[in-house]
Amino acid sequence: MSTNNRIHAINAIAERRPDVPLATLPVDTSLQTYGDDVFGEKEIRAFLPKSAAAKLLATVNDGKPLDPSIAADVAHAMKEWALSKGATHFTHWFQPLTGGTAEKHNSFIEPAGTARAIQAFSGKNLIGGEADASSFPSGGLRSTFEARGYTAWDPTSPAFIKRHANGATLCIPTAFCAHTGEALDSKTPLLRSVQALTKALKRLMAHFGQPDGRVSVTLGAEQEYFLIDRGFYLQRPDLLQTGRTVFGAAPAKHQQLDDHYYGAIRPRILKFMTEVEAQLWKLGIPAKTRHNEVAPAQFELAPIFEDLNLAVDHNMLIMEVLRRTAERNGLECLLHEKPFSGVNGSGKHCNWSIAYGGRNLLEPGTNPKENAIFLTVLLAVIRAIDLHADLLRASTAGAGNDHRLGGNEAPPAILSIFLGDDLSAVVKAIETGTSWAARGRTKLKIGVDTLPPLPRDTTDRNRTSPFAFTGNKFEFRAPGSSQNCAQNQMVLNTIVAESLDALSDKLDAMPGDFNTNLQKLLQRLIRAHKRVLFAGDGYSAAWQREAAARGLPDLPDTISAIAPLKVSANQTLFEKYGVLTRSEMDSRYEIALEDYERRVRIEGGVALEIARSMIRPVVADEFSKLATAISIAKKDGLKVGVSGLKALSLKLGAGLDDLHVKCERLDKALAKGGAKEILAAMVDLRRTVDALEYLVDDSRWPLPKYREMLFVY
Ligand code: ADP
Ligand code: MG
Repeated sequence: MSTNNRIHAINAIAERRPDVPLATLPVDTSLQTYGDDVFGEKEIRAFLPKSAAAKLLATVNDGKPLDPSIAADVAHAMKEWALSKGATHFTHWFQPLTGGTAEKHNSFIEPAGTARAIQAFSGKNLIGGEADASSFPSGGLRSTFEARGYTAWDPTSPAFIKRHANGATLCIPTAFCAHTGEALDSKTPLLRSVQALTKALKRLMAHFGQPDGRVSVTLGAEQEYFLIDRGFYLQRPDLLQTGRTVFGAAPAKHQQLDDHYYGAIRPRILKFMTEVEAQLWKLGIPAKTRHNEVAPAQFELAPIFEDLNLAVDHNMLIMEVLRRTAERNGLECLLHEKPFSGVNGSGKHCNWSIAYGGRNLLEPGTNPKENAIFLTVLLAVIRAIDLHADLLRASTAGAGNDHRLGGNEAPPAILSIFLGDDLSAVVKAIETGTSWAARGRTKLKIGVDTLPPLPRDTTDRNRTSPFAFTGNKFEFRAPGSSQNCAQNQMVLNTIVAESLDALSDKLDAMPGDFNTNLQKLLQRLIRAHKRVLFAGDGYSAAWQREAAARGLPDLPDTISAIAPLKVSANQTLFEKYGVLTRSEMDSRYEIALEDYERRVRIEGGVALEIARSMIRPVVADEFSKLATAISIAKKDGLKVGVSGLKALSLKLGAGLDDLHVKCERLDKALAKGGAKEILAAMVDLRRTVDALEYLVDDSRWPLPKYREMLFVY
């Protein structure tokens, strides 16, 4: 009987029996319960007086400002509905700058005479709340003696029910601000950025003589994640405390054979996935796609795209449901960008588009005007990415994503745009004013010619591109799997708003025929910004050199990537569009920096602790056993085996010495150095520990190995 916990965990997995018979899986094929846990349109109509319902729906569906006089009615209706769902408490649900979500529950209880109580929920409690926010990151926006934070109801994202073993909680999506009104969350600037983009787009559409239309910005976020058996997870202090393995030798087989990607999904995982989907569907989250990803034990979930603000909230919920459901299934869901070195990390592909009056502007149209609009918006996006790549890069910065961006798998840290062959040909034709291949010898006249249908699926998927046009949307692949989408979407909206305005300004200043002017403008835009277009291999060293020659910024790590937040011109831009003030940008810089440094320090501390208290004793013990064996063998005058024992003891002894030296180095870096020194010392220590993993008796190695975590489940 082994005393090694790893072996016990493996045995436990081997003995697992499916706990639910196939026939009783909780799948609601009728979709009767879809959206059941959401205070949506149906619930609004059922629980609110007619006129209040109409007013609320005007805000929810048409973006009309909220009439505050209906708050009491809405609160009462929400409470009645929540009670019918078994809720005892409500909470404002918000997204502080920790990267996660936050909630503080209050029961509906109100005293009503001696030893009696009723359930109540007032309009005031719905609209706003006050929270002691002293421990949320504020980056200097709020001193602890003024530690009040305020939450404000976001009626455009519906309230929902979160269930637990003994009941449920009514969750009300809210924004979170300091008493000065400065944003302390991700939602507030996101909503501001949608407003900025809406305004700029309406202005540009007026140039095209389009009637006033509703602007909708949409997001479809593909979520990648790892699942490992919880028995292993609990034995890895590094995973427990940092979300990633700081040690672990590469197994002989990992992802070389590409045999996991799109492979048949194992029953245990499928059971997990169906449970996740059942919960998401109840929350009105349109979970659509599920599949195995590239790395072993890596998976993806993608919902159908939705209105941006809602899609962001839904992604936060998806991450939570993934974690919770994994735990219930004896699994651990790892959302870190790089839990395992040597295999692919996890991203969150953000598919983004803008629609006007119900038509997606990133979809080539069916008539000359629609195509002119399509090409104009497309070029506005290209211009935005070229001019503000640094800001977009900043939005993906973080200690976790540093291990992914620029690795040989994820998009590079250099931002470039992939358009696909067909669209590249169109752009080329506009730029050069020469004949356009798809149209024979004629020149493409903007606003006069129609484009041939650009077949979506001939756009070969350049997986190495960080920002790819995929037929009717842009897919931003740099964001990390654990990051809040609001971070990058807020930047994207703002820089595109600026670009749309720049185009409107130019058009305003050009007298004469609109189509001719537009053609000239687009041509100039392409010439000025085509350096950001790239169709080749984004992973290659040649591209790094080429990008440098083109003057594209390469910001390889968090420290360099967040620097643009402090650049005055960038702050001016965000201020101009009312998305973030200068002090809000400063605070976000401080928070990102502090978060990064703290995370690296924690990782270093965990690595040192594991190396000293888990690895070293095993190596020392094995070494001393060998030394004893050698001296006994010598004493007994054995002719064989001694040289083998000696060779091994030399290796182990050298490893032991190395381990000591490298632990000392890391210790010193933690005491006196910064993130850079700590990371370098960790890499150095890891080399020694991973080499020892191959030397030490397998049955005594204390940490679950990669080949186990990634393959045994
Ligand atoms: P892929 O081949 O990259 O998986 P999909 O068509 O499956 O492409 O889309 C991936 C994600 O993009 C999904 O969440 C999908 O709903 C979303 N998506 C599709 N069209 C749009 C759009 N117009 N705007 C935003 N997201 C979209
Ligand atoms: Mg995709």
